[in-house]
Order: sequence, then structure tokens, then C-alpha cells
Amino acid sequence: MRIGVLGAGLSGCTIALELADAGHQVVLIDRQAEPLLGASSNCEGKLHLGYVYGLDDSLRTAETMLQGAGHFRPLLERWVGADCFETGRSSPFIYAIPHDSMLPANRVLEHFRQVSARLGANGLTTQWREYSCLTESKLAAVFDPDRIALAVRTHEFAIDPLCLRERLLAALDEMPSLSLLMAATVCDIVALPGERFRVGLDFAGERNSEDFDCVVNCLWEQRLALDARLGHQLNRPVIHRFKSALRTQNPDVFETLPSVTFTIGEYGDTVAYPGRAYASWYPTGLLSEEVALAPSRTGLPQDEEAIEALKRSQLEALAALMPGAAEALDWRLPGWSLCGGYITAWGQSGIADSQSELHQRTRVGVHSYGRYHSVDTGKLTLAPLIAKQACDRILGR
Ligand SMILES: Cc1cc2nc3c(=O)[nH]c(=O)nc-3n(C[C@H](O)[C@H](O)[C@H](O)COP(=O)(O)OP(=O)(O)OC[C@H]3O[C@@H](n4cnc5c(N)ncnc54)[C@H](O)[C@@H]3O)c2cc1C
Repeated sequence: MRIGVLGAGLSGCTIALELADAGHQVVLIDRQAEPLLGASSNCEGKLHLGYVYGLDDSLRTAETMLQGAGHFRPLLERWVGADCFETGRSSPFIYAIPHDSMLPANRVLEHFRQVSARLGANGLTTQWREYSCLTESKLAAVFDPDRIALAVRTHEFAIDPLCLRERLLAALDEMPSLSLLMAATVCDIVALPGERFRVGLDFAGERNSEDFDCVVNCLWEQRLALDARLGHQLNRPVIHRFKSALRTQNPDVFETLPSVTFTIGEYGDTVAYPGRAYASWYPTGLLSEEVALAPSRTGLPQDEEAIEALKRSQLEALAALMPGAAEALDWRLPGWSLCGGYITAWGQSGIADSQSELHQRTRVGVHSYGRYHSVDTGKLTLAPLIAKQACDRILGR
């Protein structure tokens, strides 16, 4: 079959590799000049074990994340190599629970206990079950005790998305029956007789099209708009949040900054990988929030003043919560650059609403309509597993 994979994020790239490896002729299409310049490379790369989803007391979101995290390395290793999981692996996350958390510290701790009891299944090592609360003095060495009620050391970690990107680009390059069609914006799709599809493309104002026997839609925040062109529209609200974050290769930062997630609520994270650090503060880093079929924002601010303001506001807020790491979080340090992308999910209200669907991420996966497949990745953690599910379906496995 000639298969068009639309969107070269982590899901699109892994689906394209798998289908090409199975002998199909695959064209991977993206609007950017190169693959992997969307959410998959602008996120923090945390392999969620479910700890942040304490507001889903059914534990189904935690279960979903555990399954995704358990499959992440076994499925990706084939394309990115085993060493990527060592050289790109962050320090383990400390969870810091502020006094004004949406769930009080004792309830967060109970959630940790329940998640941890489920660890060990899904191919995850039982060693990761362990977690421990920081003593008062250790907490105060990093955090402001007037703002942080509890800090818990876990085994959860992130993989540097830029490390994954580098390896995946090499794998795409080496796959013979896979071709890349970059700088091509997918703007339309029509069904042709005989279950074929014509994908309309825009190359900087010039229109063209490609015909396929099978199409896999991995367009993330643009996915539902394309589904709707074929009449496949689910009548559910969708929320698109454009979130900015910061990263740096400055060793003064990544060598001293701990990896921390503040939870549960509109807070932020810091991540230290072996050669890079990442930081985000939700209240100022969130640049837009829209309930719509497709979002309208097109990217990060370009003017220096706005970029500086975003660096300063995010790092100052994190430093205030973590006085012990304030030096590493100094916004004046050289090297901090802005990144960001869309987080698209079912729902119609933000994180601050405890009833928001954002606290439940189980309704993700592959929607198939004949030979047209629409892939909702949900989280980076779930991307390889969901990509496998899409390929199994297409390959009849
Ligand atoms: C700031 C941030 C932090 C995050 N942190 C985490 C985390 O720690 N852990 C986690 O599990 N998840 C995290 N996520 C979510 C995670 O990044 C996404 O769930 C995942 O990367 C989506 O992968 P994808 O392949 O579906 O989409 P993407 O990686 O966005 O790929 C979609 C591709 O489609 C292309 N595209 C879109 N529209 C068109 C079009 N019309 N024509 C052609 N090409 C198009 C884009 O250029 C892009 O390359 C985070 C997201 C963000 C933004």
C-alpha cells in the first residue's frame, strides 16, 4: 500500500517507521522543514507514572499512564537505541505539594500509595514502587516550607525529547521505503472511489495533492479539523492550550537543578537531563487556552521583550518556591531559550477546575474509519503504545 502519514511528531514518526519496515511505501508529511518540531520535541519528556493525576480517583488515568510508560522504552528502543534511555534520562522527579494544592498533601500521598501499588505490572520495574517523603530539613534545603507542605522523592523520570529527536531523525533517514515530504501543510482530504484518499497540500501558497491507499492522521492539535473534512466529527468539546517553557544547555543549571513537579494545580516543573535543563511555570507560561475544533494561535512570541518577560516570570516564580535552587533558576543566566507547543485534550475548562476532563486522560487512542486512521496520542508517554495500536490495526496483526 501507499500510505500517507500526516504529522511527523513522535506518533507519526514511529508509525511511519513501523509501516515502512513492514514493506509499505510510506510518505511522512509535515508542515515544518524537518520532522519532530512540534509538541513531541518541545515538551519536557516526562514518562508519566500517573502521580499527577490524583484528581482521577478511579485511578484509570494512572493505569493508562503506567501502561504507556511500561511500553515506551521497549517499543522505541528499536528506533532510538538503548543508550538514549541512559544519556537522555533526567534525574528522578521530586513531587512538591504546595499548601494550596487542589488536593491536600495527605490525599496526594494516598494517591501515591495507590499508584505505587500498581507499579511492577506493565513491564515496569518494582524498584520504581518506592517513594519517600523528604524530611523537614531536606525539604527546607530546596523549597520554601511556608509554601510547600510536602515533598516526595519518586523514581519517575523524563527523557530529553531532543535526544529522542536526534535518534529518530537518523532512523527515518535510514529507512529505505519511507520518504519525507516537509514544508507541506495538509489543508484538505477527500475520499476517492475504491477507498483511496486525496490529501490536499499547501507548499507556501502553492497547492498540490498526493493520493494514498491508506491515511494516518497524526496532526495533534490539527487532527480533529482534518477528520471533520471527511465528516468524522465527534461532538465533544476539545481544549487546546499553548504552553511555553524554557530550556538551557548551561551546565550551571543542569548540574545543580533538581527535577521537580509541583502538584496538583496550576504550577510548574523543572527537569535536569544529563546535558540540558527544562523549566516551565504554568500561570505565566500558558499563552492561550481555546475550546475549538482547531486552535488559532500559530506559535511563540518573536519579539525580544515578550521573550524576556516569559523567561523572567517563569523562572522567578519557580525560584520563589525553590529558594535552594534560586541560583540555577536565575533568569539572567546565559543560555535560556523559549520553546513550547500545544497540549490538546478533551474538555472545556482549565486545570483549576477540579471537574475538568484535563484531570482524566483515558479517552485517547486510534479512531479508524476504513483505511483512514486518526491517532490521538494524548501524552508523549502514550505515543509509542498508541502508535503500535495503529500499526497493528493497519497491518492486521
Ligand atoms: C509544553 C508541553 C509539555 C508537555 N509535557 C509532557 C510530558 O512531560 N509528558 C508527556 O507524556 N506529554 C507531555 N506533553 C504532551 C506531548 O508533548 C504530546 O502529547 C505529544 O508530543 C503529541 O505527539 P504527536 O506526535 O501526536 O504530536 P506532535 O509532536 O505535535 O506532532 C504533530 C505534527 O503535526 C504537524 N502538523 C500539524 N498540523 C499540520 C498540518 N496541517 N499540516 C502538516 N503538518 C502539520 C506538526 O508540525 C507536528 O510536527 C507536553 C506538551 C507540551 C506542549
